[in-house]
Amino acid sequence: MSFSVTILGSSSAKPTPQRHPSAQVVNIHEQHFLVDAGEGTQQQMIRAGINPLKLRAVFVSHLHGDHVYGLFPLISTLGLYGRRTPLKVFAPAPFGEMLDAHLRFFDKELPYAVEWCEVATTQHALLLENRTLEVWSIPLRHRVPCAGFLFREKQPPLNVDKFRIEKYGLSIAQITAAKRGEDIVLDTGETIPNGELTYRPYRARSYAYLSDTNFSAKAAELVRGVDLLYHEATYAAGEHALARDRGHSTSADAAKAALQAEAGRLVIGHYSARYKDENVLVEEARALFPESYPAIEGSTFTIEKKQ
Ligand SMILES: [Zn+2]
Ligand SMILES: [Zn+2]
Repeated sequence: MSFSVTILGSSSAKPTPQRHPSAQVVNIHEQHFLVDAGEGTQQQMIRAGINPLKLRAVFVSHLHGDHVYGLFPLISTLGLYGRRTPLKVFAPAPFGEMLDAHLRFFDKELPYAVEWCEVATTQHALLLENRTLEVWSIPLRHRVPCAGFLFREKQPPLNVDKFRIEKYGLSIAQITAAKRGEDIVLDTGETIPNGELTYRPYRARSYAYLSDTNFSAKAAELVRGVDLLYHEATYAAGEHALARDRGHSTSADAAKAALQAEAGRLVIGHYSARYKDENVLVEEARALFPESYPAIEGSTFTIEKKQ
């Protein structure tokens, strides 16, 4: 039951020789989701060994080029690969206008449908849900309407403790009922509470993507308890005023968000081109939040199962 995030791009808007603009792939139980799609996303997916046909949906935080320029060529390529399954793209308005223009000029004969689902960037809303996961929008504070995303694994099904099965001589029907969360009445008339019979094999895991944004206490609150938090850190801590004016965060802001959210680990990224070595930013974040790590192209962060 995988739960991981692979970084495809870690830079902000200005090109650099080493980094690519924002893009990453979230893999939850082998369901792959693309989060932001900066220029070069499809080449980065190939380098990371991720088959783009596997994408279930795309989540776009906002309509700045460094988060969306890479999506349109990917849409064309999926057509060349013969994709038939519709592709949902969750993005703020007016993404539909860009998509329509692209389809009109370049992809009139696309063999699959691209379905735009509008993200209301001021709302904390459930965007996608299936048997194993939920994806929620997180309102952010940027220069244009922008939303982060919270990926939540659903609680795994209950397991029944085999020693209790033996102890109480439970029947198949009683075991099935216990798995549904019911208390069990034995032949003797005694009721065994469900909590005594069952346990969760592991805790539901979660991942949040918060970029681009000023520090937002509200966003941190909405992702409280998250196992892995990606938070942009465009600038070093000393550039607080610049970050605030441009709708971005510093390394210290990212750490502050992780602290407030009580996150398990923090990944920072969206580095300004002025920082040739991202370790400057990572060290600043670590001074406040020790479990801080850099986003680096090709690296994967796995969230292990925990009891
Ligand atoms: Zn950006
Ligand atoms: Zn932006």
